[in-house]
Amino acid sequence: MTDLLIHAGQVFTATDTDALLKDAWVRVENDRIAQVSASEPKTNPAVIRLEANTLLPGLVDCHVHFAISGGPDWLSEAREPYATACWRAAKHARDTLHAGFTLVRTLGGRDGADPAMRDAQARGLIEGPRMVAANLVVCMTGGHGAWIGREADGPDDVRKAVREQLKAGADIVKFIATGGVMTPNVEPGAQQLTQAELEAGVEEAHKAGFKTAAHAHGAEGIKAAVLAGIDSIEHGSFMTDESMDLMNERGTCYSVTLCSGEGFFDAPPGVVADWALEKGRRVRAAMHETFKRAYARGVKLVLGTDAGTPFNRHGDNARELEIMVSLGVDPLDALRIGTRNGAELLGKLDQLGTIESGKLADLVLCGSDVVADIGRLRTPETILAVVQGGRIVHRRDVHA
Ligand SMILES: [Zn+2]
Repeated sequence: MTDLLIHAGQVFTATDTDALLKDAWVRVENDRIAQVSASEPKTNPAVIRLEANTLLPGLVDCHVHFAISGGPDWLSEAREPYATACWRAAKHARDTLHAGFTLVRTLGGRDGADPAMRDAQARGLIEGPRMVAANLVVCMTGGHGAWIGREADGPDDVRKAVREQLKAGADIVKFIATGGVMTPNVEPGAQQLTQAELEAGVEEAHKAGFKTAAHAHGAEGIKAAVLAGIDSIEHGSFMTDESMDLMNERGTCYSVTLCSGEGFFDAPPGVVADWALEKGRRVRAAMHETFKRAYARGVKLVLGTDAGTPFNRHGDNARELEIMVSLGVDPLDALRIGTRNGAELLGKLDQLGTIESGKLADLVLCGSDVVADIGRLRTPETILAVVQGGRIVHRRDVHA
């Protein structure tokens, strides 16, 4: 592998000190960052030299669904032939990587597909972000997400469902604590898995050394999941201040998925089912208010888009950062949420998530000042190159 020398007008390191370095150099040796310096370091003459306006650590999305495309009819996609779904997922993974997202957490798909895709990526068989993969979501009978779920009733059955997901290769288990938008006949605010079921499930996953996430819109379901020891709350639309304080005590992360709410507003009239549109609009308004409150209250935030849901396209994941900033988040905080915080939740902060010597070289080279205008991260022209493990896996001039 040829070593790289990157010179950037600014380097967002995502470290506690010197988060934003002006006019800096990053030297990559093999798969790792070898040096971050204010002056040009000595290198061997064969090094590949790259220039960027802004250099970021690889972005991290903690909530994607590679099994679905962002089209209006996800329930039909979830029933398409298994092999078709896998090829579709591989394209989504590549689009995500080329947008600068070098690490993701998949939170629900067809049985066995996501753990296999994680392994295929790690072995170099497909192009995509590094993956932390859930398998089927664990939900109650008839619950939200049953179309990519293992239905389970009672604490013992939930425990068995968790064991099945781990046996299938999952390294994160997702529980459905409340209703949701994308399943007919369930109310987003209503609790689904009970406190006792969540406790059994979370205990079983933690016992095996694996983390957990809970899909939760309604206040009671959110609180139940937090009390059960869940590691992250997804959506969190109707979250109370009390739950936020509990999350702060316990270090529970919040992955809001603002992009998922936006998609329902982008949908042309008549293409998304009315029952889903109506719920999507209600949830979006609540999510915005809750997110602003959570930011002000210091809840640990991570970036999660729910990519794959209607009009929430794989490869447009940076939209989440744009919405966060539009809701009042400081751009450097947003970038920290989108890099370091995600790597930490996913248990990868010792190797990824910041630009520091010794870490794996997952980097995004941007052609313009994305700190000043974070929305530019959404345009393919901005992403000059993506580096993953020291390899240039995407270059704008090659792939455009
Ligand atoms: Zn989701």
